[in-house]
Amino acid sequence: MKKYGFLLLLALMLWLVPMHGQAAAASNAVYLDGKALSVPAGVKIELVQNNVMIPLRVVAEGLGSTVGWDQKSGTVTIQNDASTIELVVNNNNAVVNGSKVKLAAPPLLRGGTSVVPLRFVSEQMGLKVSWDNKAKSAYLTSPVPAEDQAPQPAQPTPVTGGGSAPSAAPATVNSISFADGRLLIAASGAVNPSISTLTGPDRLVVDLPNTAFSSQFGLGQPLDQKQSGQQDAIGSADVSRIRYSLFNNNPSTIRVVLDLNAPKSYTLSQDSSGLITVTLTDPGTGPTPPVGAGGKKVLVLDAGHGFKDVGTTGILGNHEKDFNLSVTLKVADLLKSETGIDLVLTRSDDTYPTLAQRAQLANDLHADAFISIHANSVLDKPDASGTETYYYNSNGKELATIMHKHLLQATGFKDRKVKTERYQVLRQSNGPATLLEVGFLSNLQEDMIMLTDDFQQRVAQGIVDGIKEYFKL
Ligand SMILES: [Zn+2]
Repeated sequence: MKKYGFLLLLALMLWLVPMHGQAAAASNAVYLDGKALSVPAGVKIELVQNNVMIPLRVVAEGLGSTVGWDQKSGTVTIQNDASTIELVVNNNNAVVNGSKVKLAAPPLLRGGTSVVPLRFVSEQMGLKVSWDNKAKSAYLTSPVPAEDQAPQPAQPTPVTGGGSAPSAAPATVNSISFADGRLLIAASGAVNPSISTLTGPDRLVVDLPNTAFSSQFGLGQPLDQKQSGQQDAIGSADVSRIRYSLFNNNPSTIRVVLDLNAPKSYTLSQDSSGLITVTLTDPGTGPTPPVGAGGKKVLVLDAGHGFKDVGTTGILGNHEKDFNLSVTLKVADLLKSETGIDLVLTRSDDTYPTLAQRAQLANDLHADAFISIHANSVLDKPDASGTETYYYNSNGKELATIMHKHLLQATGFKDRKVKTERYQVLRQSNGPATLLEVGFLSNLQEDMIMLTDDFQQRVAQGIVDGIKEYFKL
């Protein structure tokens, strides 16, 4: 079972919230492995082009690197056992171990020292970063030495010609998904992604060095014999398609490409559980506020089944997974204008997050409600019909009761009441959770109605009405 570490993502994004100014000052507190670094006087942590800028020298020296400075060319050189980094003040291009790396914002001179984007520091120095918004402090954690890390399962390293140095067993990627403007990559093992944006056409490229697809990957989403696959980003205005492939065999590298409809910026966060989150942002407008910011209610909506798990099959040959997704996307559309709710989807396309992942997502986000959308079926009883709603933990009873009332009104089907059942997504959700069985795809009459756009729209509106009543909005 994977653990989504959304908390770190949230913490990371908190500081990015509503600072639209060019250089909003925050504070001077930077901690490295729990120790406060002394930031030179006159240096402020500031936001430049949506990048938090931190003083480079104190962090690099704190990590035991040697820092050199050439006043004439404005070049900073950072050297340690593993790498050499060269940066030039006011220049977007850095050189890391001889290769060019583009910075999201150029290093700037502040009070006689250079400040660089926090993201660059975390990526190039392998640091984990979090931010305490209350205390306005950045916490940096240096990488754990290899011998302290949990052993990775042994993996055969592909043998290739050429006599290059043997590399460590690649980390494995278990799933790649895109929802709500976020690319989520679940990996086991340490991954150091490198991200770039391309134009003509607009793309965002995420390279995952020293990674391979896990044996589970192809079960959850498309992966062909050539170790590549793609999915449409249904319901996303920003992204048309997600492509991924084993881009390089030696060293084994997975490349993920988002085909964008317009230029985008991004923020990257990672956590110790292996979840990599790339959040798309509009260039110049600042990143999306974190989920649940400003007292918003967090709603996790789960379109049941997906990909190879089609759910039940309707009497007309239609698949439950498509009905569930269609209704879910309609709810998402209706909630776009609802400012009091932050909606997160477990899937927004034809993919299959595991049941554990769906519940975990809600738990990690401390969701105020988790609603799983399904359609029913009893194949040997074609007359079975109606709407029923489930909960399992007692904290889901009120949610289920209110949702059922509105759902029933919307469907106009027979009332099969609110029930309890040990469904995994309900059992494993910590917060209020409910599962809706809208109607019976095995019933010809209901199946025909449920296929119509009108009906799905009505159900979506019913779900919205229910959730608003539950949240008292
Ligand atoms: Zn189902």
